[in-house]
Amino acid sequence: MAGIYIHIPFCKQKCNYCNFYSLASVKYRDVFVDALLKEMEIQKDYLSGEHIETVYFGGGTPSLLDAGEIDKIIERLSKYHRIISSPEVTIEANPDDISRQKIKELLHTPVNRFSIGIQSFFDDDLNYLNRVHSGSEAEKSVISVLDAGYKNVTIDLIYGIPTLTDDKWGKNIEKFLNFQIPHLSSYALTVEPQTALDVLIRKGKMENVDEEKAVRHFKILMDAMKNENYIHYEISNFAKEGFYSKHNTSYWQGKKYLGLGPSAHSFDGNSRRWNIANLNKYIEGMKKGGKIVEQEILTLEQKYNEYVMTSLRTVWGTDIKYIEDTFGKNITSHYIKEIRKHINAKNVICNNGIYRLTKKGKLFADAIASDIFYIG
Ligand code: SF4
Repeated sequence: MAGIYIHIPFCKQKCNYCNFYSLASVKYRDVFVDALLKEMEIQKDYLSGEHIETVYFGGGTPSLLDAGEIDKIIERLSKYHRIISSPEVTIEANPDDISRQKIKELLHTPVNRFSIGIQSFFDDDLNYLNRVHSGSEAEKSVISVLDAGYKNVTIDLIYGIPTLTDDKWGKNIEKFLNFQIPHLSSYALTVEPQTALDVLIRKGKMENVDEEKAVRHFKILMDAMKNENYIHYEISNFAKEGFYSKHNTSYWQGKKYLGLGPSAHSFDGNSRRWNIANLNKYIEGMKKGGKIVEQEILTLEQKYNEYVMTSLRTVWGTDIKYIEDTFGKNITSHYIKEIRKHINAKNVICNNGIYRLTKKGKLFADAIASDIFYIG
């Protein structure tokens, strides 16, 4: 089983914290869709006939495409790939694009999972992030999607925003819970180098993020979600049983995927490759037959590091038997030696050879994983 990711590189305006590749214009939408269809043909053998279980429209802002374009893309995908009979088809959507008319149109496409980029229900947080939508549009968008009958719905919320007090963060979580949505993705605001937010903070024009606040918000979130019986199945993801993101889970479980569109990454089990993050060059490249990828063949050590990084963040944990069978004795001994101090510090627990983060360990997930990386 494998997945397909489609990167739609357009946004109405750039959020200041964003480091995904996208342009604040939809001027080249038609030529982009043509180039994407061409790329599908060029890459049709990449997954060597694997069944496709998930299709994910990400970006950028996929909800800027219309239902006809979505249909056309999926139709073309099914020409080149064996898509299972009930695939998970997700679209990332921004609240300001979700009109009742748009949802009505999408109901006739194979899209069956909505991922809504809410980030906060409060205008001052949305202004801080330079999001294009308002808090009331955020609420209306969720209501519209639920009213249309979509059951598999997730929203994104960001915590640790300087304008987001603990009280407001509690209210954001409460609003999410009141909607009875089965899935939440929630991330700490991070200031990525070279983003507009990074520049504004360095110039003293915007307040910097406070890491202690982010830790506090994460703890509030974990407690609230546990009380409501959501499963914390990945460090940034909570779901009711049966509503895990199949697409993202396949990344964390090391399954193969094909990424289409500028900047999209692909993985075939042994190598990772990525398309150029430049729309014009991507379009030109497709016209010339698709020579716009860079590739890296993963070493055994890199595969181990990736496995540790992703598995430790999930509810399935890190499996010592898998490490031994896949990476050999040396790496296994390294893992056992390095993980020991985190068990002693009560950051990690081990049951039957499966190592999982404790609630305390979840606060330092990336640091713990990088601590047990193998640098040969
Ligand atoms: S809408 Fe999403 S992809 Fe576009 S700029 Fe904002 S965060 Fe980035």
